[in-house]
Amino acid sequence: MPSVPTLRELLASGQRSFSFEFFPPKSDAGARTLWAAIRRVEALSPTFVSVTYGAGGSSRDRTIEVTQRIAAETTLRPVAHLTAVGHSVPELRHIIGQYADAGVHDVLALRGDPPGDPRGPWLPHPQGLTYARELVELVRRSGNFGVGVAAFPELHPRSRDWESDIRHFVAKCRAGADYAITQMFFHPEDYLRFRDRVVAAGCDTPVIPEIMPATDARQIRRFAELSDAAFPEDLAHRLEAAKDDPATAHRIGVDHATAMADRLLAEGAPGLHYITLNRSTAALDIHRNLGVASGALQPA
Ligand code: FAD
Repeated sequence: MPSVPTLRELLASGQRSFSFEFFPPKSDAGARTLWAAIRRVEALSPTFVSVTYGAGGSSRDRTIEVTQRIAAETTLRPVAHLTAVGHSVPELRHIIGQYADAGVHDVLALRGDPPGDPRGPWLPHPQGLTYARELVELVRRSGNFGVGVAAFPELHPRSRDWESDIRHFVAKCRAGADYAITQMFFHPEDYLRFRDRVVAAGCDTPVIPEIMPATDARQIRRFAELSDAAFPEDLAHRLEAAKDDPATAHRIGVDHATAMADRLLAEGAPGLHYITLNRSTAALDIHRNLGVASGALQPA
């Protein structure tokens, strides 16, 4: 059987990665919506799909279940998000082992935010890890995994300054990351400046921009809660003006995201990572508008 390229090999060969992000469903109805979205995405043969990891409790078990089911029942390559929050090192090793047993060979290694108040003080588990770099090392030591990390084009909220942010980012990449995926952003220049800073620091880890389609004025406050990304005023006004006309608002958001994605690819971005919010419609519309093909990675 021909060997399956890793994401690192695929990107190094100059192919672009197109991927879609989901979150674990909270109910049976949510699960049906999620699986309908996964099947629509599957038809496009993306490079991979990823599943986020919650702050604690049952949502974490659902992340593991959904990721394992993607590996078992679809042609998609799943990337499991994993955070250090609230886990001892033995617990993290156990989860990584469960993934390996289920044929999941890719992990997005994250520190995570404190549960409750994401801006509150970060307290590591007494037998746990403090920074994502340590989780990258742990996953690497645990087996033959592809490993991704997070990147913050508008500066990580806890970073003192750009100099320390880039230094820690590069250290995390050198610990064994194959690629990075950014936080959402809405101005392409923020991504381009970040990428230039990483390259200037001597780091060649591919940084994949995350695309968050904004198709509803009511989402804007939620985006601000999720990230510090500056939202374009003109887009906010146009979405507000179309707040009673969902089809127009959808088109405005998709057109804006398509233009940004097009510019990013033209500037050499190594691919795109779409947030689907488990619905996929806007992400698929953007991807179809771009008319690009994914570098295919089948499950190993
Ligand atoms: P780190 O790389 O550890 O960085 C955190 C901060 O510590 C930064 O300011 C960094 O500069 C600093 N730092 C790093 N090393 C050192 C050091 N040695 N000394 C001093 N300072 C240091 N969260 C979830 O809970 N679940 C998810 O599924 C999830 N998915 C995400 C997906 C993407 C693409 C992104 C961009 C974020 C995601 N997050 C998720 C959010 C993420 O967990 C938080 O934003 C978290 O605050 C940062 O994680 P990190 O992995 O970048 O941390």
